[in-house]
Amino acid sequence: MKKYNSKINKIRSFALSLIFIGFVIMYGAIFFKNNQILVLIFMTVGLLCIIGSTAVYGWIGLLSTKAVQVVCPECGKWTKVLGRVDICMYCNEPLTLDPTLEGKEFNQNYNKK
Ligand SMILES: [Zn+2]
Repeated sequence: MKKYNSKINKIRSFALSLIFIGFVIMYGAIFFKNNQILVLIFMTVGLLCIIGSTAVYGWIGLLSTKAVQVVCPECGKWTKVLGRVDICMYCNEPLTLDPTLEGKEFNQNYNKK
């Protein structure tokens, strides 16, 4: 069976990797220190990645307020559900807000209209 992650967790790890990519790109500028234009480009792109990551973090915050809080039936913890189906942030139990989808195998496509 395919492994799924909670959407909020997924976005969060995306934002985190964006920060790392930004730093790696900025670090890469060192290799081009003889070429000021390249250094400037690398620094700008790296900085944009970090700024983008900050924006994604802000977006997560926004999404979190919109997400429905539910108690996971599997682990009993409070988790957030985004869209019609989502995954528990703690135990990866598939959760749904739609009673017609209950018991069906988890599928991200249910979130698409
Ligand atoms: Zn759970």
